[in-house]
Order: sequence, then structure tokens, then C-alpha cells
Amino acid sequence: MHSNSPSAECVSNPADLVQVMQYLERVGLNTGSAGNASYRAGGHSYLITPSGVAPSALTAESIIRMPHHRASEAGIPKPSSESPMHSAIYAARPDVRAIVHTHSSYATALACRRKSIPAFHYMVAVAGGDSIRCAPYATFGTKELSAHAVAALNGRTACLLANHGVLALSSDPLTAAKLALEVEQLAKQYCIALQCGEPKILNKEQMQEVLEKFEHYGQ
Ligand SMILES: [Zn+2]
Repeated sequence: MHSNSPSAECVSNPADLVQVMQYLERVGLNTGSAGNASYRAGGHSYLITPSGVAPSALTAESIIRMPHHRASEAGIPKPSSESPMHSAIYAARPDVRAIVHTHSSYATALACRRKSIPAFHYMVAVAGGDSIRCAPYATFGTKELSAHAVAALNGRTACLLANHGVLALSSDPLTAAKLALEVEQLAKQYCIALQCGEPKILNKEQMQEVLEKFEHYGQ
């Protein structure tokens, strides 16, 4: 029976999160233990990378299942400090099955301006709208940041987090990571364009046309 509930066909695998964190490091989106990734495991439960572990040291056994993980006991790894943000997104967005969070350089540089990425390039539509919004600043790991992120992601699959980084949402961790890479590429292009003057911004009609084409793009 088909259900709107994402729990129906979830096939999340801890090894996928290990692979995706190693991919994010390989393509230069994250360094050290920055960033994190999660994969919905059914309903509001999800798998997430642990706090403060470099991608090279991650194993499938180190991946944590939320929200019932008990991290207070000695020797048990803590989930990513951003797990409240992942929880809030999964609760608000039944369409989302995977979340990737990075501190990638160009996107984070733009996020420090606390401005959205406008439609300077038609590929901005990859995040589902005519801009990639920047969520207002709040301290990492707080409910306030979770609420800002959910609002900035309304109707979108990616956003910037002011003075912090990027969120990318998709159906599986690798697709979310590729979206984060696309956002980083756009941020880099926008930074370069800003250095040459003020880029022309595509208007609402032009972006609407792109968004409609994107719906039918691919195989
Ligand atoms: Zn972060």
C-alpha cells in the first residue's frame, strides 16, 4: 500500500553515510570533522554521523540512530551537534529522506554576507526556487537555528545558514551531497561575478520558465 509517510519504503544504510562523508571530503566541501549527513530510517527516526569524527575514521558502526540515542553514558559517541536541525527538518518535511550539511568555502563566504544567492544563473533553480535563501544567524545546535533553517528551506531543497554553512536535502545522501556541490559551484561563480561588477539577475518569469523545464528534465 502506498503511503505519504516516508517510513514506508526507507532503505537507509549506515555505510551510505560513511561513503558520503568521505565523498564530501574528497571533493573539498568539508575538511576535518566539519559538516554532517543523515538518512531517514522511517518516520521521524534517522541515522546521523557522530560528532567530531573525521571522515577517514568513520565506520558504519559509528553511525548513530536518532532520536532515541543515549549519548550521556561514557564511551558512547555523541551524535552530530547539529542533530536538532536534522530532527526539525525531518519533522517538517515528509518529502526529505537525506540531509547533508557542509561548511564549504564559497557558500559559507556568501552566508557571512547574510544574503540569499539571487538568480544570477539559471541553475539556482536546482534548489527549487528563484533564489537560494540564507537563514538568519543563530548559534549551532539551537532550536532557534532549527526554526530558521526550516523556514529558509520552505519549498526548497537547499539553503545557506548565516555565518555558518549550507544545507542540502534530497532522497538519498549521495544526491544531497551532489546538490551541496552544485550550491558550492554556484556560490563560487556568484563570488567571481560580484568581483567583476553587479551581475544581472534573471527575473521571476525567466526563472519560472526554468523551474518548469526542470520538472521535465532528464530521463
Ligand atoms: Zn555546521
